[in-house]
Amino acid sequence: MSQFTAYTGRFAPSPTGPLHFGSLVTALASWCEARAHHGRWLVRIEDTDIPRNQIGAEESILSALNAYGLHADSAIERQQDHLVNYNHIIEALKAQNLIYACSCSRKQLTGLTAYPNTCRNKDLPFEGNAIRLKTPDEIICFTDRIQGQVCENLRQTTGDFVLRRRDRIISYQLAVVVDDMRQGVTDIVRGADLLDNTIRQIWLRKCLNTLQLPHLSSIEPAYCHIPLAMNAHGQKLSKQNLAMPLEETEIVATLQKAFVALGQDWVEADTPEEFLQRAVEHWDLSRAPRHSQLMGIFL
Ligand code: GLU
Repeated sequence: MSQFTAYTGRFAPSPTGPLHFGSLVTALASWCEARAHHGRWLVRIEDTDIPRNQIGAEESILSALNAYGLHADSAIERQQDHLVNYNHIIEALKAQNLIYACSCSRKQLTGLTAYPNTCRNKDLPFEGNAIRLKTPDEIICFTDRIQGQVCENLRQTTGDFVLRRRDRIISYQLAVVVDDMRQGVTDIVRGADLLDNTIRQIWLRKCLNTLQLPHLSSIEPAYCHIPLAMNAHGQKLSKQNLAMPLEETEIVATLQKAFVALGQDWVEADTPEEFLQRAVEHWDLSRAPRHSQLMGIFL
């Protein structure tokens, strides 16, 4: 039997700011799903985009998860520790002619929705250029457990997309797919703001599968995109629009609010541990709201 078959979920925050109520909703949903399946739950810090990392954010995220009782089953991983692996995989993709170097500047591409694959046949050197993955001119679909069927032709929506930037920063797309495969993640439960990355990630996964690298799982994961909590102005709660960081007081009340926002029953509890234990017993993903935004006012 493959080493990668058991239910494995994860929460993968970027250290660009402290956790807010919206991130708690997502973390709680992925934690409850994993626990309800008697599965593993991992925490991975997605810190490849160095300029966006904020000093102290990782510590604050981990401290909040701890205070809310959301403990990972394995040591916390950081993507910065895996740069060698991403670059090795880029070499393997290159050997299969699945990627190419691109010298287009941001300015040259302004105003375009999809990259027009300008550099695809230029055979430019890899050093000093961005690296793009070739995408097919075909419709790719998947069925999200909450959002239903999603289909996209990458040639029309994004074009060949970047896996490594000119400054050698590994893109979110490459890092997230490689790590989900390396860690054997079977169920991706995350915010609906990431839904429109998924087809790119499914295509990249397909390309990586052709490399037959033994340290990467070839299991197709299930996807579940949780509706986003909005602020009083109808904007999604995010670090960018300065959502309030999660307080480490009123923890049970905040967990209860997050659980109810996910369409679940009110669960009475005195401690976070008691709450989480009861939450798993009552958890029913099919009750989560089907739309992509959670209505209500969340701080
Ligand atoms: N690191 C991403 C974020 O903080 C989440 C990635 C994912 O769950 O796929 O938005």
